[in-house]
Amino acid sequence: MTIATVNPTTGELLEQWDPLTAHEVNERIGRAHSAFGAYRLTSFADRAGWLRATADLLESDIDGVARMMTTEMGKTLAAARAETVKCAAACRFFASQAESFLADEEVLGADVGAERAFARYQPLGPVLAVMPWNFPLWQVVRFAAPALMAGNVGLLKHASNVPRTALFLEELFVGAGFPDGVFQTLLITTEQVEPVLRDPRVAAATVTGSTGAGRSVGAIAGSEIKPSVLELGGSDAFVVMPSADLDRAAEVAAVARCQNNGQSCIAAKRFIVHDAVADAFERRFVERMEALRVGDPLEASTDVGPLATERGRVEVEELVADAMAKGATVRCGGARLDGPGWFYPPTVVSGVAPGMRMFAEEVFGPVASVLRAADLDHAIELANAVDFGLGSNAWTDDRAEQERFVRDLQAGAVFVNGMTTSFPQLPFGGIKGSGYGRELAAQGVRSFCNLKTVWLGTGRREADVARSE
Ligand code: NAP
Repeated sequence: MTIATVNPTTGELLEQWDPLTAHEVNERIGRAHSAFGAYRLTSFADRAGWLRATADLLESDIDGVARMMTTEMGKTLAAARAETVKCAAACRFFASQAESFLADEEVLGADVGAERAFARYQPLGPVLAVMPWNFPLWQVVRFAAPALMAGNVGLLKHASNVPRTALFLEELFVGAGFPDGVFQTLLITTEQVEPVLRDPRVAAATVTGSTGAGRSVGAIAGSEIKPSVLELGGSDAFVVMPSADLDRAAEVAAVARCQNNGQSCIAAKRFIVHDAVADAFERRFVERMEALRVGDPLEASTDVGPLATERGRVEVEELVADAMAKGATVRCGGARLDGPGWFYPPTVVSGVAPGMRMFAEEVFGPVASVLRAADLDHAIELANAVDFGLGSNAWTDDRAEQERFVRDLQAGAVFVNGMTTSFPQLPFGGIKGSGYGRELAAQGVRSFCNLKTVWLGTGRREADVARSE
């Protein structure tokens, strides 16, 4: 795949790059390796200062950063601005919290025959981050802010359609004062990922992307006995029960499905509605989806911009065609928009059922599958009947039902009467085909650390005997 910026609104090729040569990649890994030698010894205060400067830089040009993302992958300018602001906030959060998340974990020395004993978090080294284009700034900052605070260094292989954002990220961290080599962007192809990860100077990997990419990189990491975090695709359920506020549920459902032009791992994708309210919910949902304005993502009035790639639109079309051939009904949308750019309208497909590709696969575009459930157990069964387990949403005012969803939905998160989202304060990640490991919160900072057991004795017989008595 070529490494190029193509504006999805117009289809125009704006700029392209040659991938780094093997020699250049080797040189950059060397820089990362030697940078780690000194960076691991820097103080939390220094790292926090550089990360706060990163936040300052982002906040000093929110519009410029947002425009870069919008012209590169098509998200609306408002969404791109919000992403930039969120990244700055995450940098500040980890700058202030990482040291306490990584504090030594003390145990009672006497219990283990030591004068003092504790576990200490220490960084692992250069971490290879394989990242997707859909939140081109956030996905990288979500990895980098905690990882750099922990004393690791980063090597970024970004998606091949967002090279401008990829190069900007290196400039950003360097501009904020992080020492040379602490964060580098590698403009490389997927084929070049394997030799980087097998290089003994690279300590670990993190992947945010499709299940296929995660399986492949995770297998290489496993064969090298290197830790990995996999944040992969999702097909989140959005369950609506009779006690839910249907107007509010339908309003949030449309946003949850169409956020980021329908290209979010945690977008609600399968709407599982109790029979008793199915017609009433679907009517409201279709109205909300039809009301969304599709257009130029740089225009303030636009709710939904183009899909990021031409191939992505074809994949969405194929999934909709498969569902229709197997008996589903398109309630709104359902056909690409004529003209330049890769536009596809908000679409509701009713009567989706197991056996259709849309049921089992991730639909990466503004297309909602609607399914009906006979009761609570059936709703949970449908929600869990896929290989993904990232987020999930349940709409009900009934406390007992809420407890059932919290207990039984197979997912890394459950949001009750709200849509799945991420916060620096809460852990984020999936189960099943959606991956393993967690980002954000304390877990995110600890992900790429060696938890070293430290046992301190005196080495003097009298003291040891006294302690063991
Ligand atoms: P993708 O095709 O898997 O690409 C993601 C990254 O992996 C890109 O940098 C890509 O490079 C690279 N890649 C792909 N196949 C690879 C392989 N076999 N070996 C090594 N690297 C490989 O996914 P995408 O289309 O960019 O992003 C959409 C997917 O990401 C969706 O499935 C979405 O749900 C998921 N996602 C998950 C999360 C989460 O937190 N769980 C968040 C956002 C997105 P190239 O671009 O060069 O192919």
